[in-house]
Amino acid sequence: MKRILITGAAGFLGSHLCDRFIKEGFKVIGMDNLITGDLKNIEHLFKSEDFEFYNHDVTKFVHVPGKLDYILHFASPASPIDYLKIPIQTLKVGSLGTHNLLGLAKEKNARILIASTSEVYGDPLVHPQTEDYYGNVNTIGPRGVYDEAKRFQESITMAYHTYHGVETRIVRIFNTYGPRMRLNDGRVVPAFIGQALRGEDLTIFGDGLQTRSFCYVDDQVEGIYRLLFSDYIYPVNIGNPDEITIKDFAEEIIKLTGTEQKVIYKDLPVNDPLQRQPDISRAKEVLGWEPVVDRAEGMKKTLEYFKGFSQEELQKSEHRDFLNN
Ligand code: UDP
Repeated sequence: MKRILITGAAGFLGSHLCDRFIKEGFKVIGMDNLITGDLKNIEHLFKSEDFEFYNHDVTKFVHVPGKLDYILHFASPASPIDYLKIPIQTLKVGSLGTHNLLGLAKEKNARILIASTSEVYGDPLVHPQTEDYYGNVNTIGPRGVYDEAKRFQESITMAYHTYHGVETRIVRIFNTYGPRMRLNDGRVVPAFIGQALRGEDLTIFGDGLQTRSFCYVDDQVEGIYRLLFSDYIYPVNIGNPDEITIKDFAEEIIKLTGTEQKVIYKDLPVNDPLQRQPDISRAKEVLGWEPVVDRAEGMKKTLEYFKGFSQEELQKSEHRDFLNN
């Protein structure tokens, strides 16, 4: 049986990846330090003989006994509010953590796929974003700790490929949503759904004309799975090109949840990208991949998940914003 190490295993994407690889017949080793991850996301896997879990911080030396065939590096805070709260950890997991995992991949002769992000494009001046675009990032802005760590991560990954011959893959993940997102991570999908379910007004930052393009988690996982087993070493965008303004998205959530609440406007966070839409031509060409779940269907499934929380749990997870986190 093939063995795969998945870092960030207790997080949103990491836990879905653990599920997928267990389903495909792999031995999965999940690793997480649980700063932003939650064991609830993987507790159903503990009964499987094919799953092991290490509570470990990958910025410290990573040791995994036995053979390893693949590594997926998905450990990282991934929400703007988390970058503000734990900026140093965000920088370290993308840089030192990646270095440790590349070293492990080299030692074990394992193929490694690292999770990069559309944030490497910053507040993009090219639209939609193709992989050839170098980006527009403010190194010292609030998102700089994430963006620059991920940019460094891509560089060191290519360096390990070029100089040490390590088999590497790089996915640039665009906004992804679905069950197991953290209710209070501040991101717009759980934020709006949480507000609607608590009976609060939905907070739009800025004028709401900024755009995002939301990809359902199952589509994202399928793209990552195909990339790992492809022979393509350059970055590949994985996301859903269906672009929407945040204002229209708020209206969709109001309709979907049937809430009586309205929208209210708050200040736009510093360096919040105005437009974001992946160009997925490369993923189509090299992976034969494109998303198949539309927003209506994906949001319905996501709402079902959040409806599973009691009113008490919902109230405890009050919305965090940039002034009140
Ligand atoms: N946003 C918003 N209200 C919220 C949370 C987020 O209007 O309560 C906006 C945010 O300013 C951004 C967009 O929604 O323009 C997506 O934010 P998110 O934090 O989900 O992701 P990112 O900015 O990293 O794409």
